[in-house]
Amino acid sequence: MNDENLSTMHRGVKVLHDPIRNKGTAFTEADRRALNLTGLLPPRVHSAAEQELRVLGNVRDKPTDLARYLYLISLQDRNETLFYRVVMNNIEEMMPLIYTPTVGAACQEFQHIYRRPRGFYVCSNNRGHIKKVLQNWPHKNARIIVITDGERILGLGDLGADGMGIPIGKLSLYTACAGIHPTECLPVMFDVGTNNEELLNDPLYNGLEQHRERGESFDSLLDEFIEAARETFPGVLIQFEDFGNINAFRLLDKYRDKICCFNDDIQGTGAVALSGIIAAMRITGEKLADQRLLFLGAGEAGIGTADTFVAALVEEGMSVEDARKRCCFFDTEGLLTSNRERIADHKQRFARDIPPMNDFLEAVKTLKPTAILGLSGQPGSFPKEVIETMAKINKRPIIFALSNPTSKAECTAEEAYRWSKGRAIFASGSPFSEVKYGNKTHVPGQGNNVYIFPGVGLGAIVSGSRRVTNEMFLAASHSLAKQVSEFDLEQGCVYPPLSRVREVSAKIAYEVAMIAFNNGLTDREAPEDLMAEIREYMYQPVYPHYA
Ligand code: NAD
Repeated sequence: MNDENLSTMHRGVKVLHDPIRNKGTAFTEADRRALNLTGLLPPRVHSAAEQELRVLGNVRDKPTDLARYLYLISLQDRNETLFYRVVMNNIEEMMPLIYTPTVGAACQEFQHIYRRPRGFYVCSNNRGHIKKVLQNWPHKNARIIVITDGERILGLGDLGADGMGIPIGKLSLYTACAGIHPTECLPVMFDVGTNNEELLNDPLYNGLEQHRERGESFDSLLDEFIEAARETFPGVLIQFEDFGNINAFRLLDKYRDKICCFNDDIQGTGAVALSGIIAAMRITGEKLADQRLLFLGAGEAGIGTADTFVAALVEEGMSVEDARKRCCFFDTEGLLTSNRERIADHKQRFARDIPPMNDFLEAVKTLKPTAILGLSGQPGSFPKEVIETMAKINKRPIIFALSNPTSKAECTAEEAYRWSKGRAIFASGSPFSEVKYGNKTHVPGQGNNVYIFPGVGLGAIVSGSRRVTNEMFLAASHSLAKQVSEFDLEQGCVYPPLSRVREVSAKIAYEVAMIAFNNGLTDREAPEDLMAEIREYMYQPVYPHYA
């Protein structure tokens, strides 16, 4: 038999081993005949719905969440359509497994659980030929890259190359929550080393065995990657993810006006947290302009949130200076005041002219905030006295414990409701179950940027926007807050349920794309029916026919 006949014969085997095209036991009789698969599969043809049931049974039977994560990732490696069908139809159950909190545990174990390649590694030793190396990526239509250097993975610190789980997980959410096609998603680990000695001493560690490159050599390598990526995938959107804050702010400043990019930890978190506060105003009947925010943590997420809050107040007519005075920060050195000896650039604008304090409870008592926002990665840092004090000062105290994963939340949902006698408006970064307090069931909202970045990315991609602007994040924030129903609010929840996340993303995408069209950020004219175009673009996990 000649090679051509052989390759026709074996086309089906290739399809069987291609996760994008594989249907597993759902190949129909006609597919099987067309692809020469007869005999290679058990005879019974199952529907996708039956396959989904089997997967759910298997997931639920696993003893731990990490085992569930591994099972789901191996399904993704075999059959992406089925993986996304299961994730999308069961998003509330699946999201904590494929994303926070389980993805945090997966990254901590990455070198031990590594099975199959997924995502793309760019290393210091690719310097000078990154463009050539990028040709190895099998899909030529990447529209979105999520890139991390693994230096600040969730609240877990420097996990080096093991942080790869994060871009993989984020991009799965782009597909599940906003319908970006899996082949258009490119997860990238920018491996410049790690300063985590435990990893460097672990013989199974997968990343470069070196301390982190810094300065000019880091910058020139990233420049080279970005140029190569933009030439290889014209118009690609680049999302910076989980870089340490030594790099995150300056990279955003460096690239935001030059290429289509954003930083999710800074801008995405800002938009989701602001949205929660706007929705909370619908419960309290207060105005945004009356809020006084006290942040625990002055890093990417905290400063990003304060910047977005300030932008919202400025939009309402307040001056930037006055708006900034509504935000106070408390970090490892206490209250962020202007008389500190050295203040990092990203914190400067929020250093307040007030007496220094080293005790968070004292800061709460003195500043009388309407909201405390935990973005410090420090569990237990909203203790009983802090919540009780917040409840004394405010009829409905806003308590957002936004640090991820769950183990890092500043307080639990149960603690916030119990210590505030059921009056807290609570949200957390990772999910908490509902809490019964008195005769009311409180549903904690998940203030996670998964409500924002998929829609922002979708809007930028559909419109062909050359930039992602702060105005887009502000619009995303307002759009999300509007999508919280009266029913959600009655349960104390300031975010819509995750089951509505695709609809949320489509509406955010609409607002983002309109900004791109109206501000001349794209070469296209706005289509007559933008929403129809967005919906048409969105990937659905439906099997192809081969016959
Ligand atoms: P970061 O490293 O940039 O900042 C952390 C900040 O916390 C720093 O300012 C640090 O000084 C402060 N801090 C640390 N220990 C402290 C302590 N004991 N007391 C007071 N302050 C302390 O990190 P980041 O990107 O800002 O993220 C912080 C947390 O927010 C992480 O847990 C991350 O997972 C979470 N986060 C959540 C979301 C979300 O969508 N909910 C999004 C982004 C980040």
